[in-house]
Amino acid sequence: MADFAEFGYCPYRAWHLSRGTTPVVRPETAKAMEIGKTIHENLDRGHAEKISALRKATETDRLDKSRPLEFYRNLRVHLYRRPFLYLGKIDNVCRKTDGNFYIAEDKTTRQLPSSPWPDHLLQVYTYCAGMAGTHWRRYSAKYLCWRITYRDKITTEILGEFGGFYDTLSHDTLLTSLENFETIYRGDDPGLEVNPNKCIICRYGTSCPFRK
Ligand code: SF4
Repeated sequence: MADFAEFGYCPYRAWHLSRGTTPVVRPETAKAMEIGKTIHENLDRGHAEKISALRKATETDRLDKSRPLEFYRNLRVHLYRRPFLYLGKIDNVCRKTDGNFYIAEDKTTRQLPSSPWPDHLLQVYTYCAGMAGTHWRRYSAKYLCWRITYRDKITTEILGEFGGFYDTLSHDTLLTSLENFETIYRGDDPGLEVNPNKCIICRYGTSCPFRK
């Protein structure tokens, strides 16, 4: 069993998950988590007022793709690949009047990247696959789309956004990553490249045999 966000950072985290290694929470990581929590709390507060003005969707609403729908931080999704069960809770999902479902994720950064970071893409791809597997049949929609919003780490101002469709290419990218993750979890090493910069701030620290 694994949380969606775990394997996005580095697939070798699967090795630690399978052995129950206790992660080290460094001060800078704890601070980043605290900032992330504040952003989500602020978004929650802003959204609570909006949500209170909405009504609960009926089956007719769910099946009419021209009607907008909104879920907020309460959409749990899972992805089952026997014997692995991946669990996740999506920050923001909505169906817009264009008939598409949008899965959104907020991230903090010091500088806006030129394209989304691979681990963030992997996270939204997994959410899309989880959404498709868990809820898709209950709703009518045209396409499944993703959006990543990057916010300034200190001010939380929006620096930029990226988005796209969950298409065959993104699905194949996700499948390859999940296979690697599961191979490592089972104890084999697929010989993937490791980014030393990630190892420096990784919470598994020096206990990791794959560290560079
Ligand atoms: S220490 Fe490096 S190789 Fe090990 S899990 Fe962390 S990022 Fe991956």
